[in-house]
Amino acid sequence: MPEKLCLSCQKPIRGRTDKKFCDDFCRNHYNNNSLRGGPEKLIRNINIALRKNRKILRDQLRPAEQTATVHRNKLLTAGFRFNYMTHQYRTKKAQTYCFCYDYGYLPLANNWLLVVRKKGDA
Ligand SMILES: [Zn+2]
Repeated sequence: MPEKLCLSCQKPIRGRTDKKFCDDFCRNHYNNNSLRGGPEKLIRNINIALRKNRKILRDQLRPAEQTATVHRNKLLTAGFRFNYMTHQYRTKKAQTYCFCYDYGYLPLANNWLLVVRKKGDA
């Protein structure tokens, strides 16, 4: 019967033949590194970034406010990642808003941003 090798460290497994790993350490190491490394990891990380972006934008607006002017650095400090957005919205005035779900921003001059909350189905 061929020797079974640990999926994590590739060393022969002793003992029961139905085991896939030497021990818990090898199993955890394998699960943490292999399964999360594929496209699912990328998708999950982008989803996390988008949700965080949305939360940061939401935090800029008081409940009664529809817009707020915020400096770009304030968002960066909060961990905002400008390369992630869900969609863009171009107005008739040719202004392009970048959205993370229902919150977005319009770049203004000198690194200021107009943060907005989406109204209805607009
Ligand atoms: Zn092992």
